[in-house]
Amino acid sequence: NASNVSFIGLGQMGTRMANNLVKKGQQIKVFDIVPEALSSVSGAQQCSSAEEAARDADIVVTMLPTGDIVKETLLAEKGILKGMPKKALLIDCSTIEPKMAQELSRLSTDSGVRFIDAPVSGGVTGAEAATLTFMVGGADADLAEARPVLEKMGARIFKCGDIGAGQIAKLCNNLILGITMIGTCEAMNLGVKLGLDPKLLTDIVNVSTGRSWSSDTYNPVPGILPNVPSSNGYAGGFSVPLIAKDLGLAEAAALSCGTPLMLGAMAHQLYRALILNGYGDKDFSVVYEFLKGKK
Ligand code: NAD
Repeated sequence: NASNVSFIGLGQMGTRMANNLVKKGQQIKVFDIVPEALSSVSGAQQCSSAEEAARDADIVVTMLPTGDIVKETLLAEKGILKGMPKKALLIDCSTIEPKMAQELSRLSTDSGVRFIDAPVSGGVTGAEAATLTFMVGGADADLAEARPVLEKMGARIFKCGDIGAGQIAKLCNNLILGITMIGTCEAMNLGVKLGLDPKLLTDIVNVSTGRSWSSDTYNPVPGILPNVPSSNGYAGGFSVPLIAKDLGLAEAAALSCGTPLMLGAMAHQLYRALILNGYGDKDFSVVYEFLKGKK
């Protein structure tokens, strides 16, 4: 734990990831734009700006909502690049546009800072258990330096290619996730409406060909699994606007290479409609409640 590590963005994912760093003996500085979030990581040194957090850091990890916000956090008056020492390493774990990752890498290089993209999969449950999967784009030497930090927060690390390649892998994964969640919600809702017990249906699906992470780890029906958003009023977890963002990124990437994404486009539009209908602060498994309809 020789290096000074800073963590910026203490939301659903970041809080859990930063806490795992501390639990595993890594001293860290933290910053979030919401002051109350700072106390969510016990044992971390709280900072009042991204610049302050980044000062003297060997490694800065960002876990922020969107590419535009990561860029703003890099370039702001009291931004990361103002504080970060030359040759230090920036690890962006947010899910953002692959092209934005390349732009952020260029901006970092202009400031003498090294950059890798390292978006994650595993959700809040994986973040909590430090079993996240990291998908990394960037130089091998930079990944080698990042590895001890990433290993404290995750179980698997895949090198995907150059800068932005981690984001491409992440968008493809979340394209499947966004579609599969809707499929799982449709099937569970249909079964329940036709009189099946949702627990029994889940047990069957989970040993059958319909099984997925959405059925066996993050089931959308309240009461089937403990400690998932559906059993907690769909609070926390992975918000509807964030999955809508990811499907939008996948659509834009698909347009750029002429690839059709029929189901991805439909899924994208459904999540966008949910935002406009009052589900914007809920976990994305709330599709189940939406399909179920009002009593
Ligand atoms: P979140 O909205 O819960 O957390 C984001 C945090 O960033 C918030 O605490 C917010 O206050 C902070 N923030 C926003 N602007 C800031 C700024 N300018 N400076 C400092 N802090 C700022 O989001 P999340 O669910 O933790 O997701 C973070 C990223 O990880 C997103 O890109 C998301 O797509 C991705 N992701 C989420 C999940 C999940 O299950 N929630 C899983 C994998 C990947």
